Amino acid sequence: MTDNLRNHINEAMTRAADHLGKGRVADYIPALAKVDPNKLGFALALPDGTVHSSGDADEPFSIQSVSKVFTLALALRRVGSSLWDSVGREPSGSAFNSIVQLESEQGIPRNPLINAGALATTDRLIDGRSGDAVAEEIVDFMRARAGDDSVEIDFDVAFSESETGARNRSLAHFMDAFGNLTHPVETVVGVYFRQCAIAMSCRQLARAGLFLAMEGRDPLSGEQLIEPHRARRINAIMMLCGHYDNSGEFAFRVGLPGKSGVGGGILCVAPGQGSIAVWSPGLNEAGTSLAGAAALEHFAYAAGWSVFD
Ligand code: GLU
Repeated sequence: MTDNLRNHINEAMTRAADHLGKGRVADYIPALAKVDPNKLGFALALPDGTVHSSGDADEPFSIQSVSKVFTLALALRRVGSSLWDSVGREPSGSAFNSIVQLESEQGIPRNPLINAGALATTDRLIDGRSGDAVAEEIVDFMRARAGDDSVEIDFDVAFSESETGARNRSLAHFMDAFGNLTHPVETVVGVYFRQCAIAMSCRQLARAGLFLAMEGRDPLSGEQLIEPHRARRINAIMMLCGHYDNSGEFAFRVGLPGKSGVGGGILCVAPGQGSIAVWSPGLNEAGTSLAGAAALEHFAYAAGWSVFD
């Protein structure tokens, strides 16, 4: 079994390497623009704690929107189903930072994995606390899930996110105008910019996602972090909304819940089997890693891992 998985990873990495040099590295901030486009990392974390890794799997990268999955879990844990008063569960079919649907839908974003929805989710997670306390809670959660205290926010990235954050501020102000924000815009975006700027390696991220593959229970610490039905629902949202207007294509090709980030990372959950993180900075039009998605497609196909089995 283990030998097979190793072979599938090697094969997937070879196929994914064909996509290196294609795609576009995110260039809206200098820290992302300067990343080597030829990086390619893969890590598979299994419930027994084994991690199979390949390529640049130990190099930290900016997790960006992959953080939205973890703040969703934390917000559901903190405020429960009332979160759904502030954000929907429908695919958007629109770009990550789109504002158009917010007007016709009265300031309620389509889902928690587009920017507007992630801002609304972070707003609810703050729940009357200071932005600093909540940013710290998020980083502590990532450290505990990764089993690695070295996980940090990259403050250069967080600063640049804020400097270039007019669009995210607009989304937050627009929701505020509809009464769908419970904290000041600067508090909300301040936490959001920091969660996006967390730096992690594929190894750390794959380990961190394990609880989503195991019905909300971290199999290594034994903690039930969120209720099983909530883990299933987060997976459903990842499947339908994890790649913005490329979500259908990713579901079609990979068949597993996933979440992309413009840093080139993708977290992919195989329920009951394990958690996979890939990283390669060249992106497609929708901001999903080209080589990363190719690696996941080939691995999932070869291993026979699909939620549709
Ligand atoms: N920091 C980016 C933004 O909010 C994240 C986008 C992404 O990773 O998809 O615009």
